[in-house]
Order: sequence, then C-alpha cells, then structure tokens
Amino acid sequence: MMVEQLMTALGVPVAAYTGGTLAVHTPIDGSRIGMAPCDDAASVARKIERAAQAARAWRDVPAPQRGHLVRRFGEVLRQHKAELGELVSWEAGKITQEGQGEVQEMIDICDFAVGLSRQLHGLTIASERPGHHMRESWHPLGVVGVISTFNFPVAVWSWNAALALVCGNAVIWKPSEKTPLTALACQALLAQALADFPGAPECLSQVVVGGREAGMALVDDPAVALVSATGSTRMGREVGPRVAARLGRSILELGGNNAMILAPSADLGLAERAILFSAVGTAGQRCTTLRRLIVHESLRAQVVRRLKTLYAGIRVGHPLQGNLVGPLIDAAGYEAMQAALRQAEQEGGVVHGGQRVLQDAYPDAYYVAPAIVEMPGQTAIVRHETFAPILYVMGYHDFDQALQLHNDVPQGLSSCLFTNDLREAERFQGASGSDCGIANVNIGTSGAEIGGAFGGEKETGGGRESGSDAWKNYMRRQTNTVNYSRDLPLAQGIDFS
Ligand code: NAD
Repeated sequence: MMVEQLMTALGVPVAAYTGGTLAVHTPIDGSRIGMAPCDDAASVARKIERAAQAARAWRDVPAPQRGHLVRRFGEVLRQHKAELGELVSWEAGKITQEGQGEVQEMIDICDFAVGLSRQLHGLTIASERPGHHMRESWHPLGVVGVISTFNFPVAVWSWNAALALVCGNAVIWKPSEKTPLTALACQALLAQALADFPGAPECLSQVVVGGREAGMALVDDPAVALVSATGSTRMGREVGPRVAARLGRSILELGGNNAMILAPSADLGLAERAILFSAVGTAGQRCTTLRRLIVHESLRAQVVRRLKTLYAGIRVGHPLQGNLVGPLIDAAGYEAMQAALRQAEQEGGVVHGGQRVLQDAYPDAYYVAPAIVEMPGQTAIVRHETFAPILYVMGYHDFDQALQLHNDVPQGLSSCLFTNDLREAERFQGASGSDCGIANVNIGTSGAEIGGAFGGEKETGGGRESGSDAWKNYMRRQTNTVNYSRDLPLAQGIDFS
C-alpha cells in the first residue's frame, strides 16, 4: 500500500499530515510523503498543561483498570500490525520483517504492561517499634515526556507509554522529526482504544511534532516529571544536565558501540548467523547493532573470508520487496558512513564494501553495501559510534586481552560472547566481564526481548526501560509507617520525654 492508504487505514486523515511545515521524506526513494504540522513553544506548553490535568484524573483510576486500556491498545495493534509495520518501512526504511517485528514488540510490551498492572507491588517492612506497620507504596509520577529516535519510530514510545499508562501517568511524545507520521498513526490507534474506555481523561496521550526545540520544551518544563529520552549521546549530553538542573528525573537511552568476542571454541555457524543479523540488520541503524568483532587470532583470517562471502550474497534494496537490507535514513547518514570509512583507512584499516549502490534506481535515496573493516587495533574511529553498517574486525590472543578491548570504548549498551567454554561464559557475565547493560552468550547483540530491562552503561546513559522492574522509573516510591499502638516510641531508641 502507499503511505496515504496506510495512514487512512490507520485512522489518520490526510489533512492531519499534509498541511504543515515539516517536510517528511521516505528513505526508500527520497520522495516527500508528508508535511507535518509543527508545534511551537506555546502549543507544547498548552499540551503539557492538558497532560497534567489528565494525569490528575488518571492516577485515581485503579491500576488493573488502567491495564484494561493498554490491553485494548494491544488488541488494536494486533488488528493493524500489517499496516503500521508497513508504514514504519516507508518512514524509517526498515525491511518488511523488521517493520512488522517492531509492531510485534509494541504488542509484547502491552501484554507485559497488562500483567504488570496487577503487580505494582511494594514491600511490607518489619518495623523496629511495637504496634507499628511499615510498607512501601508506589504512586504515579504525573506527566511522562518521551523523546524518541528515527530508527525505532514506534517501539521506543510504546515501551515507555505502555508502562507509563499502567503506572497512572499521562504521556507526551516528541518523536524524531524524521518520523512523525508513524507517531500520528500510533496516536490514532491509541485513540481507538481510548474510545472504548469511557473512564480515560482527555489528552492522556499527546504528540508534539518538531525538532530539537520541541524536545527542549519538554526537557525544561518542571511539570514533566520524567523525561525518557532515546537518541545519540550528543543529545543525552544536552538533555541530561538540563533535566538534572531542575532536579527532574530522566531515563537516558543513548548510543552504543556493541561488540562480539568470538572465541576458539565457538559454534562458528551460529556465530556467523548472529553476526549477519546484528551487523547488517536495519542497515546497521540499531542502537544494538554489532559494530566490533573481536575474534581469536586463530580464527581471524577464516572468519573474515567467510564473512566477505556472506556479505557478497546480501540483497540490498527496496525494503518492502523481500530484500535483507534497506536504505540509510538520509544523506547525512550516508556521509557519516563514508567519512568513517575514510578515517578507518587513515588509521590503518582495510575496507571491504561500504560503497553506495542502486544510485541509478534511487538517486535521492542512500543504499549501501555493508562494510567489513579489518583494523590493526581499536583506533579512534572504532571507539566512535557511526550509525551505519560498518563492522570493524580486530584480533585477540588471550581472553583477558579480548575483555580489555571489549570494554575499552566510551559506550556500554549491548555485548556478546560466542564460546562453548563455560569459564569464559561465566567470566563474561561476571563483575569483571562485560561492562555493558546487556551481555549475551551465544546470541548476537541485537534483538532484545521486552521481558528484560533494556539499557546501557557509561555514555549509553544508564537508563533502563521495558521489562523487569523498569516500571519503577515511572512511579514515585513512598514509605508509609502506621502506629496502631497507644504509645509514641521513637526510632533509634530516642527518649524525648
Ligand atoms: P538524535 O539524538 O539525533 O535524535 C533523537 C531525538 O532527540 C529526536 O527526537 C531529536 O529531535 C531529539 N533531540 C535532539 N537534540 C535534542 C535536545 N537538545 N533536546 C531535546 N530533544 C533533542 O538521534 P537519532 O539520529 O534519531 O538516532 C540515532 C541515535 O539514537 C544513535 O546514537 C543510537 O544509538 C541511539 N539510539 C539509542 C537507543 C537506546 O535504547 N539506547 C535506541 C535507539 C537509538
């Protein structure tokens, strides 16, 4: 289907995305697919005010009922998975499988959040005082602001929104200026779910369209209790200190520079498949993309040879026509890739692939052959995240050296080890092993399940979203003590009589 048909099927009227000032282009062929209406500072402020009102009403709806709304949203997503997934392909350039997979991730987080809506448990704590009862309660925060990237245009919002909503908050979403149409579509689908939920207040979920300035308006407003910002480390360096300056809360999900250690005992067939999906999938534009392969010297030549053969067979092309790799998001993404490859060469690297392809068929789009770069060591460019399909390959002699190389980058998102040696596997996941938020054994760096907490360390920002107890970020904790005795004993044994 074409974009207009998809938007209509998803409940967004043409006028809602054609009359504005923000030009939206598809990376598939560079053509314009919308003119989205932009928010200014005044309209963002009005939306925040309305969100605060909505949050005041929503917080008193019992959590399991809030879960009903998210369950209904999950049903609506199931009904529209095909159309929304295809729209993701048009707007972000993902191949069919990955566009659909992204919507599946939204459905999965809805299921997770529905279960959670009956499990927002606090502790019961033993009091040191007779006739006293202590417990911990979790209460909604208020307004949650979500800032998201182009490369996961719908899933990142849903990880935040599904949890924020069951936790009793209102949500304002500033999607990437490169992907506002999918955001408007998600909003329309959520509106369908809200229509079946008479208890929900107006403006429980809103979208703010615009670039950095629109994001800043959310960042600086004290009424936004939590800013969950996903994007580059550059963005995080601006957002983190500004939210902290007003003593607000933030979740920062920033850039990664993910590695695989490939040990001599590994199942090479398994490792090859993991490398391909992690390094080449989404045209290397995932925060968890495999960017560094640290391979035992005894395997190095053989693995590079094999990868070159596999890379030669990868079908690059229109993402909705059965290819494995779609386009880069735009010209800037392409130029950053070429600049990184030139720098890698200057630093002693040998580049295989990486050139622009299909230029005749798509002069206004940027398709590339994924690159393998053999590096003499972990030079400056290897330590930098370039958001493109570049896999740097380095050798190692012993496992300590591999771990040292692995951790010697500023980012700390995802990591993996391929081995059949139990000692190596346990060390990798131990305190002196991988320093990343995600450390896998015999699984690639990409494609996390929503059940685990997602996020990374160091310059990746330290935030956690999605599964496990990440929901606690969207609530405030209150310690409650009740005295049901006839005395007033003081803590710490103090006698104040
Ligand atoms: P980006 O940083 O350019 O933009 C991300 C979002 O931040 C956009 O909505 C943008 O408008 C907004 N923004 C930028 N500056 C801002 C500011 N000063 N204040 C408020 N908002 C601001 O990132 P991108 O190019 O869209 O995405 C690619 C980057 O995102 C990569 O570095 C990738 O690793 C990272 N990423 C991280 C995760 C994760 O979970 N760790 C997930 C996806 C992408």
